[in-house]
This record gives sequence, C-alpha cells and structure tokens, in this order.
Amino acid sequence: MTHRAFHADAVLPGDAAPIADGAVVVDASGIVVEVGPAAGVLPRHAGVRVERIRGVVFPGLVNAHTHLELSGLRGKVAGGAGFVPWLQRLLTTRGEERPEDDGEAIDAAVAELVAAGTAAVGDVSNSLATVGALARAGLAGSVFHEVFGLAREAAMARVETLERGLDEVAAGWPSRDLVYAPSPHTLFTTHPDAVRAVLALARRLGVRASLHLAEHPAERAFLATRTGPMATLAASMAEALAAFPVPATDPVRAARALGALGPDVLAVHLADARPDELALVAESGAPVVACPRSNLFIEVRLPPMPAMLAAGIVPALGTDSLASNASLDVLAEARALADRFPAIAARTLLEMATTAGARALGRADLGRIAPGARPGLVACALDAEGADPCAAVVRSRPSSRRWVVRRSPLSSEGT
Ligand SMILES: [Zn+2]
Repeated sequence: MTHRAFHADAVLPGDAAPIADGAVVVDASGIVVEVGPAAGVLPRHAGVRVERIRGVVFPGLVNAHTHLELSGLRGKVAGGAGFVPWLQRLLTTRGEERPEDDGEAIDAAVAELVAAGTAAVGDVSNSLATVGALARAGLAGSVFHEVFGLAREAAMARVETLERGLDEVAAGWPSRDLVYAPSPHTLFTTHPDAVRAVLALARRLGVRASLHLAEHPAERAFLATRTGPMATLAASMAEALAAFPVPATDPVRAARALGALGPDVLAVHLADARPDELALVAESGAPVVACPRSNLFIEVRLPPMPAMLAAGIVPALGTDSLASNASLDVLAEARALADRFPAIAARTLLEMATTAGARALGRADLGRIAPGARPGLVACALDAEGADPCAAVVRSRPSSRRWVVRRSPLSSEGT
C-alpha cells in the first residue's frame, strides 16, 4: 500500500472552500487520490498510513512571475523613483555584475523558493541560466525566454536566434515539468514586428507566452505619443526611436492590436491599467499576474486590485526579481494586498498564490488539491483555535511552513 493520508485541522484546496477537519490521500507519486472531510475520506482508505497534522494543509505555491537570473542583484538596485530611473540603475548594475553568471545566487534563490513552499514559477529569462537550478530543485512551471529590441532588425534577429536554437534547447532541456516559452519583453521595448513573430513562435510550440503590460505611466506615455521618460531614455537610439511605430493608444489596446491579449499570453503587472482596460483584459481571457511588492518598490503604487476583482479578474501573483523585491515569497505578495485592501477575502488571496498561478501557467496539475492534481502539499500552524485557516496561511512566514509532500523532480527521461 503506497498511498499516504494526511488529516489536518483544515485542508485548503486552493480553488474551493476550506474543508474543516479535512483529509487528503495521495499516491506514491504525490497525485491526489481523494480530498474531503476526514470523516468521509479516511474510512474509504482503511489501512493507509495517516499523518495527523495540527494546522492547515494547502497546495504548493505558484510564483507566477520571477526573474531568477537577476538574483545576484538583491538589495543592489534602489527603487522609489519610478520605473525608468530603476531601469537605468538596473542596466548599469547588471552590466557591471553579470548576475546571470552568479550561479550561487541563483541556487540560493531557488532554495529560498522551495523553502517557502513554492512548487512552480513563471520565470522570465534572457540567458536560460536558471533552467538547471529550477530542474534540480524539482520546480515546475514555465521559463519565458525573452525577446526585446526597439530596433526592428535587432529584435527580429533575436527571434530568429531563438528559433534556430530550438532544437539545441530541446536537446539539453532538463525537466519535463518546465515549459520553454519564447516571449516578448514589453510593447515599449520590443518592436511590434518582433512581438508578432515571437508570439507566432510560441503558438507554433503550443505554449503560453508572457508579456509585461501596463506596468507604469512611462509605458503609457511612450506608446501613446512617443514621449515621457522612456523616450528620453531611448534618445541615444535616435534612429530606432524615430522608426519605432508607436501604436498611439493605451497599452492594453496596443496589445490587443498585436494579438498579444488573449488566453495564451500572460499579462503581467497591469499596475497602471484603467477600468476600461481591465474590462478588455477580462473579456480577452488573458491570464493576469500582479506583482504588488515590486510595484510598491519601483513606483510606490499597488496594482488596482479592487478594480481587477470588480472586472472579474482573480490574478496570479509574482514576486518579480530580487532587484525589485526583498524576498521570493509569493504569500508576502498576498500579505501586501491584505494589509492595504482588507476587504479582499483571505481565501481569494490564497487562490491568487496557488490556483490562479497554476491557471495562468496553464497547469491543471498544480496549485490545487483536487483528484488527479500533483500540487505538492504544504502545512502551517493555525494561529489560534477557530482562526480563519486562509488568513493563517496568508499571514504565515516561510519558516513556519513545511512540506508534507514535496513534488518530486521529473527528469526529461521520465522516471
Ligand atoms: Zn518582470
């Protein structure tokens, strides 16, 4: 008998109501066989070893937006002055330090993710330097291989490089649990022809891409009128800047016009999106990822969460990189929202950090405790008898969480 059962004070499925005095049964590979009230589930699995857990069991977390290759820049890039000054500092520091070569920092970041109870990530990468570390740690999710370039020729050349490298990437790919997904960086740093081309490539591969969208006012000004701090920053690239066909509309409508707004492109940030734009995003079915603490760090503003929810969007959450955040704990993102928007239910915040992240990455096997899924199970204590278990998870610190069932790595050979 290789099944195992866990009997907890509460089981939080992620996409369904909390189950008080709940039980979960998993098979040898961690696939959920049954979940429900302990009184109903456990008698059906007589003979299975039951572990009694004082506290709450919830699915492995999903951090839907990271840039782990920047982990060596932790604490080295100042924020608070807006996106363009932050980007300038990032580019300078990144040029000097080459964080993608800092394997130790990447390994430490991945270890931090796992220790916090993270099962999957949506990791944006220019170098693919993070893929090995993610695979070794058994993390699942997507690696978004990024394309940018204001100048058409350079950006299209980058897409062609990715396309030519596909076989080599596939041959060396270390995990069946990680998806390789070519992706455009943003609409204001990537020539629209390259946005179309890289999305066509992702669609040919049958994978979801990712796009930073409506992150800040500088993006809006640039796309609408080729003005603002992004235009100033790009002034040294006068030729490319002059030739860049600005869409003369808002970021969301610009994305829509390029075929970049839909169910297979993650819309990351939307911190600067307005209600009419959020309505278009919701209508399109685009998966949304919010990065509250990164937005606070860079722009000193939060995503318009009440408006997002009102539009019917339950976003995934991401920490963004350690160049704009203090940790990689996706529940700290939920906590940042709980602190400022106390009306948002803890259950919704937990859904954002688990099921919504898995949904955004297109993974029904992750982020939810449901039969057939393999989410990994994490436990934490309840603050007090009768406390809201969802709030307890949102308030928990990584050090107070523990893996009950780790997701085991799947090798590319398939073990
Ligand atoms: Zn990002």
